[in-house]
Amino acid sequence: MPANEDKPLVTFWGTRGSVPTPGRITEKYGGNTPCVAVRYQDIHIILDAGTGIRNLGIDLVEEYNKVRKALSLHLFFSHTHWDHIQGLPFFQPAYIKDTNLTIYGSPHKEDFLASILKGQMDFEYFPVGMSAFSADITIHEISEEVIQLGEVVIDRQEQIYHPGGSVRYRLGVDGKKIVYATDVELNQIFHPHTDTKKNKILAQDYLDFIYNADLLIADGQYTEEEYPSKVGWGHSSIDLLLEIAYQAQVKQLAIFHHDPQHSDKFLDELWMKSRSEFHSDYKKMDVFWAREGLTLAI
Ligand SMILES: [Zn+2]
Ligand SMILES: [Zn+2]
Repeated sequence: MPANEDKPLVTFWGTRGSVPTPGRITEKYGGNTPCVAVRYQDIHIILDAGTGIRNLGIDLVEEYNKVRKALSLHLFFSHTHWDHIQGLPFFQPAYIKDTNLTIYGSPHKEDFLASILKGQMDFEYFPVGMSAFSADITIHEISEEVIQLGEVVIDRQEQIYHPGGSVRYRLGVDGKKIVYATDVELNQIFHPHTDTKKNKILAQDYLDFIYNADLLIADGQYTEEEYPSKVGWGHSSIDLLLEIAYQAQVKQLAIFHHDPQHSDKFLDELWMKSRSEFHSDYKKMDVFWAREGLTLAI
């Protein structure tokens, strides 16, 4: 058995923010919108259902056809912006009767998640309704402090600095911590115009939540030059993210939710730049730009 098989495996199926960006200039980092799978033993966790979930679905169905074991899947939504939900109607396992799919989201808006997911499959937008899903689907607005799935423990925090809000998740598994914290404007918390008491609390909450994470998957949509014209759009700048993640002693940082304008060449150059500028300061933290198709054993 390969050594990695007993470790949690994290696969990036979609890393692009805001809108899919197919084409040659984005083929390395990928054009699909957010979807990350975490697999540990027979636990399948999916973070967001951007267009990347379509390829994950194909992969899961292939496996199902081979082993004929019903799929049991747990899908957690950070929020319901288009780029995080638009792949769900194309998720093949949802059309298989044997599949058990539990969908999780923030408890703060009663029945909101169900109505948004159904709404995107209304006939004005999509040819078949959500009732075409033959899988056994449960929509669960999380009210528990933690969710335990086998040996995986999941907790969460609300993120207010994103239009409409979003949720970050932390998975504790096999003594490791994996944090998924996308779609949040950290610049509003850590470098606000006014240094309020509220921001101090939010900053400490964020630092505590990501502290010592083995892998932090985090929103780094903008460069320092781009950020000033995008204030209030709900995304973070890369340099700030590096600084905060380093401060929280994160071990591995996956910069995520790439701007649609950022080509592979541009992202490669950013990586080179951050390596040369931060190498001495950040050498203990492994930093990379999340790439579609990449699997990491944590
Ligand atoms: Zn997004
Ligand atoms: Zn969003």
